[in-house]
Amino acid sequence: MSRHIYRDRGQNAHPSTDATSSRPHPGWEGRRVSGTTLDDFTGRYAQRIHGMAQSEIRALFSVASRPEVVSLAGGNPYTAALPMDELSSMFHDLLHTSGPQSLMYCPGQGNPRLRELLSELMSESGIDSSPDDITITTGAQQGLDLIARVFLDPGDIVLAEGPTYVGALGVFQAAQADVRHLPMDEDGLLPDALRETLAQLDRLGRSAKFLYLVPTYQNPAGVTLSEERRDEVVAICHDHGLLIVEDDPYSQLTFDSTDPTCSPAVEPLTPASGTARPPAPLRARTDWGIIYVGTLSKIFAAGLRLGWVLAPPAVRDKLVLAAEASILCPSAFTQEAAVRFFTTMAWREQIKSFIAIYQERRDTLLNSLSAHMDQGVTWTKPGGGMFVWAQLPEGLNSKTMLPRALNERVAYVPGTGFFADGGGQAQMRLNFSFPSAEEIQEGVRRLAGVISEEMAL
Ligand code: PMP
Repeated sequence: MSRHIYRDRGQNAHPSTDATSSRPHPGWEGRRVSGTTLDDFTGRYAQRIHGMAQSEIRALFSVASRPEVVSLAGGNPYTAALPMDELSSMFHDLLHTSGPQSLMYCPGQGNPRLRELLSELMSESGIDSSPDDITITTGAQQGLDLIARVFLDPGDIVLAEGPTYVGALGVFQAAQADVRHLPMDEDGLLPDALRETLAQLDRLGRSAKFLYLVPTYQNPAGVTLSEERRDEVVAICHDHGLLIVEDDPYSQLTFDSTDPTCSPAVEPLTPASGTARPPAPLRARTDWGIIYVGTLSKIFAAGLRLGWVLAPPAVRDKLVLAAEASILCPSAFTQEAAVRFFTTMAWREQIKSFIAIYQERRDTLLNSLSAHMDQGVTWTKPGGGMFVWAQLPEGLNSKTMLPRALNERVAYVPGTGFFADGGGQAQMRLNFSFPSAEEIQEGVRRLAGVISEEMAL
């Protein structure tokens, strides 16, 4: 099985060996045939473009967004839960009181007041940081892209969970990195597999550039790296001098019970405080060798495109240089909106309202799966976040099953989208943050029917 499924597909999509299209053709540029612009530049693209291909998720969007399809495929937060009237007054006030500054450029590293507020936010998870070490980015996605620009040369090895976040795969593959997956179970990454892979690389005289992890309510698997394993993973990486990129978009979306299908119901993680908390981030355990990536997409609004990277000063300097070269500065306007979110709005209540909605939907999804799925289908039980990862019975292929599912008006993301090496064929990601409880019930009913038919073939 080819390890570079996107790269292969990209090369097929841009056949640079095509003799007719690589011919220089002055005057042909932009010529339209049957409504399509002929791509006369196939031979001139940079190598890295061949690592880029449409992700399976984006390719699904057009079909999955048809009204008759119940989509468990998306990854959208439920922004309809935001208080639109309050936001409207906040934006109105923002323009009236600081319009000229907020519609101007700003420092490349980002708004200093927002950096202070993010440093305070992280301190609530035990992360000790200086606002000076924070770089504001256009979403966590740009944070990952900057990290790749700063650290990765073609052929460099990146270690990641298997499955891993599809957007990170996109970034690493665009950087022409060699992504090696490490297995996980319901407690997250297996430290022994990490130890073994690093030893193997040592024996070959090779090393990885970094370990990329989404330790909490992982996208797509929905699992959380356990307390003990966090310490173990940090210790192993320290022993090998290996950098960790900790991507943490979901830890604030913690539900107050872990599994509604367990009987008796599982107790909240910290019932006394009234606020359930996942294990502290890796960055709360050590500041050596960890680059922490955060985002406002899941606790405020993804459309504002705001994230941040907390990195040691030397790395931060390079990230800021890379950011300035890429976008000059993040949006001053949305950063000012974020400052107001934290200083003038009931933001903690807002997060609680996202949590209440997602928890109810998570419960509906898990209960519907229990009610409808055939034996042999298993799934994870996330304590927070937005995703469940399902395992199909032996022999079933979630990718080849998708056309049948779409025909039955239900969409999911096939597991192969989350692996760089062709893994994930019998797995799928199901989203519960966006569809309503009724849609989830109906979607699972349809999906269970599709799986049963597929098993009967
Ligand atoms: N990392 C992970 C693990 C994610 O799930 C996402 C969003 N789907 C991102 C990063 C990117 O988030 P942002 O909207 O902040 O760019």
